[in-house]
Amino acid sequence: MEDTYRHQGLRKRMITELRERKLTDEATLLAMASVPRHLFFPDKVFLEKAYEDIAFQIGAGQTISHPSTVAIQTGLLQVKRGMRILEIGTGSGYQTAVLLELGAKVFSIERQHELFMKTKALLDQMKYPAKLSFGDGYLGWPAYAPFDRILVTAGAPQIPAALLSQLKPGGRLVIPVGGENKQQMVLVSRGEDGQFTQEICGEFSFVPLLNDRN
Ligand code: SAH
Repeated sequence: MEDTYRHQGLRKRMITELRERKLTDEATLLAMASVPRHLFFPDKVFLEKAYEDIAFQIGAGQTISHPSTVAIQTGLLQVKRGMRILEIGTGSGYQTAVLLELGAKVFSIERQHELFMKTKALLDQMKYPAKLSFGDGYLGWPAYAPFDRILVTAGAPQIPAALLSQLKPGGRLVIPVGGENKQQMVLVSRGEDGQFTQEICGEFSFVPLLNDRN
């Protein structure tokens, strides 16, 4: 659980690079500056890689997203302190930690049991108070709905209806939608009148959001 000067230096450089690319807002960058991304990696051997703008294998065929992707998704959400956020795809827990640093209450679902167990232990150890669930994110989390924000960190063939219904009026849902290799980042905003509007915010490549049949 070490966060050495070397790691802190690499992290500062990562934030500077994201800032130069104008990828997101200051609040998001400050949150990312506080999270030791290397501790979410599966093996110490790779620690130097943790602050490069790359995705990385975290086991069970899954990846921790690029820092730039985390910055973009988090920026699109426009998180405010105290908001309730549903995250689909806990994975390594890195994105979860960034949302917690922004002062949100985070509810996160992971469907791979191995990752769920590992990440739960890690976030507990790091004292990140997320509410985690092992299950299928297609269904959302009705017991804690509605949510101010919903973030999906895997590529979905379409927007799951359950997620739309669990979004508060005035809420935002960020989800990559498309095929197995490429998706469009979709920002769904729900008006106070309950109506949805969509905006496309660039092309990305996420691991697929899987349902119970695959
Ligand atoms: N936010 C993560 C990114 C993980 S990759 C991070 O920062 O590390 C996407 C994750 O979504 C994987 O862990 C994968 O197992 C999970 N996933 C895929 N389909 C899912 C589903 N239907 N419900 C919940 N999680 C799912």
